[in-house]
Amino acid sequence: MNSSIPTVYESLQAAYGPQGWWPISGKYFPGDYSRPRDDAEAFEVCVGALLAQNTAWKNAEKAVASLASVNALNPQKITVLEQGVLAQLIRSSGYYNQKALRLKLFSDFVVCEGGLEKLFALPLPELRAKLLALNGVGEETADSIILYAAKKPSFVVDAYTKRIAFRLGLLPEDASYAQTKELFEASLPSDYAAYNECHALLVEHAKRHCTKKAPRCSDCPLQRNCNYTKTRLATKP
Ligand code: SF4
Repeated sequence: MNSSIPTVYESLQAAYGPQGWWPISGKYFPGDYSRPRDDAEAFEVCVGALLAQNTAWKNAEKAVASLASVNALNPQKITVLEQGVLAQLIRSSGYYNQKALRLKLFSDFVVCEGGLEKLFALPLPELRAKLLALNGVGEETADSIILYAAKKPSFVVDAYTKRIAFRLGLLPEDASYAQTKELFEASLPSDYAAYNECHALLVEHAKRHCTKKAPRCSDCPLQRNCNYTKTRLATKP
């Protein structure tokens, strides 16, 4: 059990409070872990996770809202929607032709599996393997779907997680997705709410303080335990 990650998690919770991920219909629900409450909300989360690939969340959010505006936020509707029409509806999310194809493949898959409720009842390793076998679903997207739509404890790793873990001295700079995931999962309680908040808090922290260039270390809530600041101070002329 790594003792640093629980300390980091506690400090981030104290600094930023509950994050209320994943947003549904544009709203966040801090401290309410009952969401998503049904297949419709869970499907919206899955679509958001697929559309958020390689773009800022606000662009994916616009595309999700565009699908909702024509009542197309369900797998049956997406399977019958003409691909070109779907691509135009999700244009704001970028790579829209590729993403339209991926959304159709994912929707076909959900329908073939008998719906999200049935799919999400599978044991976590089986669910993860099935998602990873889909075209266009990598580890981050699969774990986002498992954690935020299926509400099962599979820690989500992204570039922010890796950057913060490296700067804190918890992992080498070239740590793999699996190494990073394994460390966080071994250090936190295996619990949906803890994984949900910890990932969301790391994203918030990367945006507010631990930016890629010129991190704002002077008033960072993790400063006391951070290798990056210590190394920088030690090497200052
Ligand atoms: S002290 Fe700086 S480098 Fe370390 S976690 Fe905070 S912002 Fe990131």
